[in-house]
Amino acid sequence: MPDLRDHLQSLFGLDDFRPAQREVIEDVLARRDVLCVMPTGAGKSLCYQLPATVQPGLSIVVSPLISLMQDQVQQLRDQNISAALLNSSLPASAQRHVIAQLEDGFQGLLYVAPERFYAPNFQPLLDRLRPNLFAIDEAHCISSWGHDFRPEYSRLGEVRQKLGSPPTIALTATATEDVRADIIRLLALGDPRVYITGFDRPNLRYECRTIAKVEAKDQELLKLLADLPGSGIIYCSTRKNVDKLAVLLKSAFPQRPVFPYHAGFDQDTRTDNQDAFMQTPSAVAVATNAFGMGINKSDVRFVIHYNIPGTLEAYYQEAGRAGRDGLPSRCIVLFSYQDRYTQEYFIEHIGQENPDHLDDQRITELQDHARAKLEMVIQYARTHRCRRQMILDYFEDESEVANCCCDVCRRESGRGIESEQTIILPEQLVTLIRKLLSGIARVSIRGQFGVATVADVLGGAENEKVERWRFDQLSVYGLLHAHPIKRIVAMLHRVMEAGLAIQRDPDGVKFRPVIDLTPYGISVMIGEQPPPPILADLLGLALRSDSLTPHELGSNPRGLGTNPQASPKVTILQPDAPLDADASGRFERLRQVRLELARQKQLPAYCICHDSNNR
Ligand code: ADP
Repeated sequence: MPDLRDHLQSLFGLDDFRPAQREVIEDVLARRDVLCVMPTGAGKSLCYQLPATVQPGLSIVVSPLISLMQDQVQQLRDQNISAALLNSSLPASAQRHVIAQLEDGFQGLLYVAPERFYAPNFQPLLDRLRPNLFAIDEAHCISSWGHDFRPEYSRLGEVRQKLGSPPTIALTATATEDVRADIIRLLALGDPRVYITGFDRPNLRYECRTIAKVEAKDQELLKLLADLPGSGIIYCSTRKNVDKLAVLLKSAFPQRPVFPYHAGFDQDTRTDNQDAFMQTPSAVAVATNAFGMGINKSDVRFVIHYNIPGTLEAYYQEAGRAGRDGLPSRCIVLFSYQDRYTQEYFIEHIGQENPDHLDDQRITELQDHARAKLEMVIQYARTHRCRRQMILDYFEDESEVANCCCDVCRRESGRGIESEQTIILPEQLVTLIRKLLSGIARVSIRGQFGVATVADVLGGAENEKVERWRFDQLSVYGLLHAHPIKRIVAMLHRVMEAGLAIQRDPDGVKFRPVIDLTPYGISVMIGEQPPPPILADLLGLALRSDSLTPHELGSNPRGLGTNPQASPKVTILQPDAPLDADASGRFERLRQVRLELARQKQLPAYCICHDSNNR
């Protein structure tokens, strides 16, 4: 076997192999079939490019991404490596030239877009070409379980057979077990070696912000962007959102280059916008998931999901476009429960693009599968576990995360929320929160109701629904009558954002989510735990009620749940004086115990015990 490292250095100008590259290359050169699942930026291309240059003959590389193909071919030619490409962007004469070269026994790497195999001028060649290597990039596109199924990929098994079943390497950044099984089966790989390398991206800070009211997202996005320097991508699930945000961002940040991208633009505009994004420093792309596959920009500093994607695979891949240079970068999801409906709309339309391709039973299977995947994304958004670890577990990567900087871990360790950790909520505010929670609990005894109904009941509204369900008989009726109903709605949303309650769809019903307490919410309601400090800002919201004094925060017409001892003045207590060395040691040990308990119960640490209780 040739000295691979010498080749790496002399042909590619690289010092050494990255994890798994050498092993994969050795297998490929030994004519074994290989399936490579490696994260974006891991260096998958080298796994077929190096064998293709070391061994004589033709290597065919299938790639769905025309722009990436062009880049790679150019780079290879710059390194004096023989490479050609065949895709629809080439004029007919250039295509004929490549085909003539192939007829003459072209040696080197031929990059082909998958649909070219089925073109009339290529079909007859298939039986005659005998490549030494068949490489399939973005191989997950072959599986209808995957998040990016492409029908022209599904016939690659047939193509491979026509080519004489050459040694094959399939590569992808994301493939769960079912997708891996499909790749192997559909390509008819023979006893392939499967490489799955780490999914861990320690330089990415995963975060999720729950924005209960969809309308509040734009403000949150503007706030975020004001503090995020560098290049970034904002992903939306619809073209409409892309268009809206592009206008919003251009007017809010006139100095910042913003490039929209979605499949509704013509090809030239898309190419121009993509190129401009690649070349402009601090550029922001606002895009649907049509954007990004093959984007070779290493200094993307943040990826924000304005809407949730449909699967964690898609999330990992899209978020993974941040920080390919290894520098700290942020991956932020703005989660609103209502976003699930857009994804569900896509799920309901599965199979409609190619109705001949799938029978009803298969469509139902795919839809069920897609729904389960969507639930995982929602779980990710709501988790109280380390997000980085959750992603690793999802991809069955057994690594243990250390020193994580995701928002959950930062909260647990007290980093990043110092101000929250030291705030003790005033008694009136705690009472107000418990009233909101009691409202949810009481109303839900009568059935499943949404935020508006709970707000009506707490605000003492008189309407047909209240009468019909005899809500005025409930002890919580009118408990917050001093607040306008709209403000109670806003407060209920804040309570949800803090994880005390959630929205969910009752069985078989859509677009009318009901509100429920979470176990954490129940525990706060019954006084087992203090409310999270993050709710300190509820105070501002409550005080905005006209003519409402802080004292009235706890007011209620029936004297329910008020604390007669409560101070009428609302104060936020400041932390105690610094601890001496001894006490500091004890304090740290207590924090460790708390961290353990929090992990066991999958709760933020401050839910186990507040810093101030430790002191
Ligand atoms: P992937 O296809 O896995 O997303 P690429 O093949 O595009 O990743 O490689 C990402 C970057 O890593 C490229 O700039 C490539 O030159 C670089 N790279 C690949 N292998 C190595 C290596 N062994 N040492 C240093 N850089 C490497």
